[in-house]
Amino acid sequence: MATYIIGIDIGGTSTKWGIVSQTGELLYKSFLETSGYKNFKSYVSAVSEQIKKYITENKITDISGIGIGAPNGNYHTGNIEYAANLDQKGILPVSKLFEEEFNLPVKLTNDANAAAIGEKVFGNAKQMQNFVLLTLGTGLGSGIFVEGKLLYGKTGMAGELGHITVNPDGRQCSCGKIGCLEEYVSAKGIVQNVNYILTLPENENLKSPLKDMKQENITPKLISELAGKNDPVAYKTLEYTGKILGIAIADIYSIFSPEAVFLAGGISKAEQPFMKNVKKYAEKYSLKIHKNNIKILKSGLENSPVGILGAAALIING
Ligand SMILES: [Zn+2]
Repeated sequence: MATYIIGIDIGGTSTKWGIVSQTGELLYKSFLETSGYKNFKSYVSAVSEQIKKYITENKITDISGIGIGAPNGNYHTGNIEYAANLDQKGILPVSKLFEEEFNLPVKLTNDANAAAIGEKVFGNAKQMQNFVLLTLGTGLGSGIFVEGKLLYGKTGMAGELGHITVNPDGRQCSCGKIGCLEEYVSAKGIVQNVNYILTLPENENLKSPLKDMKQENITPKLISELAGKNDPVAYKTLEYTGKILGIAIADIYSIFSPEAVFLAGGISKAEQPFMKNVKKYAEKYSLKIHKNNIKILKSGLENSPVGILGAAALIING
């Protein structure tokens, strides 16, 4: 078995890549800008050139494949399909182009699926056959393992839990639908939740610096910090966000009966009222068979470059 894997994590702003061992040690990592290229082919050439330079200079020859995590990356087709936050649009044949550059097997999936595969291969889900990982960042991504395999579905795009509807009369989502989970539980969602809390008549007399702030200056980090100091608006915002996620997790248990749900990403570290309500409402809205058996755990790759490791893990368990 070859010793190393190339892991590539394509994001809207930067593309991070690394050389990863079979056991998940990161030998080297670097990054470059994702945007500003003439076309997608010239972007792939620039990434490849940087990687080739490193592996040639360091005489690394035993590489078994290239794993790629990317927004809207389709495992079945090897294409990025209509990713909203990339400057290159449409269907992008990412696997084909990297195969041509390196003459190595290439596997692609979306970034949240890659994080779930990373959890399975290198993280806290090594022994689990059924689990769900939610990435709570700018958006809400998810990867679902069923009977030891990542769930891709017919189209290769299964497991978009960020876009299940939690409020049919609710907020407009960037995907075009109304009331998606992501609009309530994500960096942008949590900021909108502050507004919602402030519009409730019962909260009219609450005192908080959030009341006089412009929405663009409010961040999840600030909300969490204020909640830690018992700011009532921040506290209620985290309670509300936790409640919505908790109910969604109860639904996840009803559908998949996982051994655990892992939470990754910045918002998963929010102050106590958040996790307290996630757990409370996941229990409250779960079926009897799942009661007292709901496990909500932290990702084991919290302090690692999870995008690179997850992408590399795709070559081991793809
Ligand atoms: Zn949506």
